Formats: sequence, structure tokens, C-alpha cells
Amino acid sequence: MKHRSDICIVGAGISGLSCATHLLESSACRGLSIRIFDMQAEAGGRIRSRSLDGKAAIELGAGRYSPQLHPHFQRMMQSYSQKSESYPFTQLKFKSHTQQKLKNAMRELSPRLKEHGKESFLNFVSRYQGKESAVGMIKSMGYDALFLPNISAEMAYDIVGKHPEIQSFTENDGNQWFSAEEGFNGLIAQMKDKVKAGGAKFSLGFRLLSVSRDDEGYCLSLVGEDGWQLTHHARHLILAIPPSAMATLNLNFPEEWSPSRYGSLPLFKGFLAYDEAWWKDYRLEDQVLIVDNPLRKVYFKSDKYVFFYTDSEMAGYWRARVADGEEGYLEQVRHHLADALGIAKDRIPQPSQHIHKYWAHGVEFCQDAAAEHPAALLHRDNGIIACSDAYTEHCGWMEGGLLSAREASGILLQRIAG
Ligand SMILES: Cc1cc2nc3c(=O)[nH]c(=O)nc-3n(C[C@H](O)[C@H](O)[C@H](O)COP(=O)(O)OP(=O)(O)OC[C@H]3O[C@@H](n4cnc5c(N)ncnc54)[C@H](O)[C@@H]3O)c2cc1C
Repeated sequence: MKHRSDICIVGAGISGLSCATHLLESSACRGLSIRIFDMQAEAGGRIRSRSLDGKAAIELGAGRYSPQLHPHFQRMMQSYSQKSESYPFTQLKFKSHTQQKLKNAMRELSPRLKEHGKESFLNFVSRYQGKESAVGMIKSMGYDALFLPNISAEMAYDIVGKHPEIQSFTENDGNQWFSAEEGFNGLIAQMKDKVKAGGAKFSLGFRLLSVSRDDEGYCLSLVGEDGWQLTHHARHLILAIPPSAMATLNLNFPEEWSPSRYGSLPLFKGFLAYDEAWWKDYRLEDQVLIVDNPLRKVYFKSDKYVFFYTDSEMAGYWRARVADGEEGYLEQVRHHLADALGIAKDRIPQPSQHIHKYWAHGVEFCQDAAAEHPAALLHRDNGIIACSDAYTEHCGWMEGGLLSAREASGILLQRIAG
């Protein structure tokens, strides 16, 4: 018997699940079979909530959203009755000298964006402030991607205004931010249940290796976690996997899909739980610190836990520390925490539990910021549809996944109806 479906979606992250719900809601798909594959054993992709110390829900991946910036995502949370809670890390209470002056400096430089906004952010700031001061200024924002040569000044202003910890350096400081009370996995579980109830089938733990055309549509070669090879035939195909994953297939990505180029950045998050909330002695509950050491951004979540969040080079740094051994990793975290707070290392106890996660392709994006970009891509010859937050103006955010899914499923529905 052939393994087949009318519609196949590869990728069970928020984009793939959202494509499936749109399709199942449409009368055009009534009676059509839908199969969803993912190489992971669980759905959710870069949304991954865990429990720390058996108590707090922590987010190894996506952690927060803003109703002002992410209205589709907010509606999604509401429609699945997911409880949100205020995300407290939107202001820096403890600011370095540079951070105190940053808002003014950003405001003073912004009129120059018209003339030099396409330059790298570092060159742009250096032009007016000198290199040393520019490096200090950008470092004090805690997101090292802002140093990358392909991040223009225009892009950097946009990025700064759309990240909660540093939005107050721009005029966007009124944006509210929320996290999911029980973790975003709750939303994923609900979406998955809805898709299942609609009749779609999941095959988790299968990695797509290649796709070819056949008389009936597409022939997919997949491999299971145990090495079992599977061939699946589908009439229609949506690849809800990010650009870095697209590039591993035999589909000449991006050349045969888009004139743009795509990039990605690594991310690392480390979470630590303690028997005692020792940071209360320093009045750090619900505060975030941006520091000039490898921890970069340190968050003190009420009296529950501490976490740090890094990107680019520093994500690689922490990955290497973990590879050296957990004990050495924890010692480094402790050392840099003490440094960040200006206290002796022995004032910081050993954690009772900890979890960390390195994401090799944490953020995926289009490298041509100015490009007019469709929210979903189409292969130029074979009609396969590609869906990812990376194709939208909300790359790096769940909102982008929802926008791309709406576009991708819309294209497919038109095709089925026509
Ligand atoms: C550390 C971190 C922090 C983040 N913080 C936020 C935040 O605070 N707020 C926010 O809105 N967003 C945040 N994001 C971004 C957000 O997680 C993503 O925008 C969103 O989850 C992307 O969803 P997606 O479905 O498009 O892709 P993904 O979640 O990447 O899903 C793609 C799926 O495809 C599967 N796949 C890939 N290749 C194959 C293959 N060959 N065969 C089969 N399956 C395959 C993967 O296993 C995965 O499940 C964060 C991401 C990370 C990593």
C-alpha cells in the first residue's frame, strides 16, 4: 500500500500547525486527507516550554509577545483560551553610564538615517560618535547581532524598538509585553489537538530528505528516528520549515525560489533555579541587566529563577563551555554573574537545577532588508509552497510564522478551488 495524502505539510512548528488549521477550516479541503511530518518527536519547533525544578514553566525558545507588534499572535492566544501574564523585562532599572545616555544618542542620530541608514549600524554610529564610543554603545544594548555588517542602521533601529529589554532606548517604550502563564507549549498542544480533531494525521520523528515530482504530485523521501526510510506521495505540498532547513533539501534553495538571500543566527538560553532567591537581597526581582560580559542579558524572574540569553558569538561561547563539561559551565556562569553584580563569587550559591539550550539557527531572516518580499515562497517550476516567519517583516517572531501560514494556505486553497 502506498503512503499518501492529498495535502502534506512538513514542519509542525507554529507555521505548519497554523497552515493546517486554515486548511481544515476551509470547505475547499472537506474530504481531503492531510498529513503533517516533523523530524522532532514533538510538535512546536522553536517553541519549547519546559518545567524547571518541577515548578516554573520556562521557555527554551520563544518567550514573549507584544499585542502592539504581534496582534495575530495575541488573537491566537485568546482564541485558544491561553492565559498570558505580564512580561516584566521591559525597562532597565539598573543602567550603566552608556545606557543612561543611549536614548538621547539614538534620538539625535535618527535624522541621519535618511542619508546613511543603509550603512552597517556600527559604521553609522562610528561616523558620528567615533568607533570606540560606537562599540560601547552597541554593546550596551545586549544583542550582539547589532554588530553584524549586514545589519544596517535602519534595521538596527527597527530591531531595538521591537525588543522588550531595549525598546526604551527608542520611542517604542510604550509597547506592552506578555508571556504565557503555563508556557507556549500549551498553545501548541491546543493547536495540535484541533488539527487532529479535524482529521489530519501526524507523523512525528520523520525527517524529510528530498522531494521529487511524480504523476500524482510529489514524492517525499523521509527517514525515521530509527533509520527507517519512508516514501510518501502527496498531491499538494507545503514546506513549513525555515530557510536553513530548506537549504539542506534537493530543491535549490534559495536560487529557484527567491532572488533574496537568507541567514540565521545562533541563540543560547541558560536557566538556573536555586533553593533560595538570593537575588532578592539585591532587589533584582523581575529586573533585567544588560552586561558587558558573556552573559549579556541576565533576567531575574520574580523569586523563581534566573536566566541569561545570548546571540551570535556569545551563543557559540556558551555552547563551547557546555561542551567542556557541565561543572565548568556552571562555574563560568557563576563567575560572570558575580562580575555582573559586582559581588564576590561565593555570594552566589550553586543552583539546585539548571537547563540550557543552544539553537544553531535560532533566528532566521532575509538578508535583503529592502526587498519586496512575499510572505510565502513558491518554487519557480514545481509549485511547492514554502512557509516561514523568515519571509515576513516579523522574521524572528511567532507573529511572522502566522502571517506566512496565512499566505501559504491561501495560495494552496486558491489552487485547490481553481
Ligand atoms: C531562543 C529563541 C527565542 C525566541 N524568542 C521569541 C520570542 O520571544 N517571541 C517570538 O514571537 N518569537 C521568538 N522566537 C522565534 C520563534 O520561535 C519562531 O519565529 C517561530 O517559532 C517559528 O515557527 P516556524 O513554525 O516557522 O518554525 P520552527 O518553529 O523552526 O518549526 C519548523 C519545524 O520544522 C521541522 N523541520 C525542519 N526541517 C525538517 C525536515 N527536513 N524534515 C522534517 N521536519 C523538519 C523542525 O523540527 C520544526 O519543528 C524565538 C526563537 C528562539 C530559538
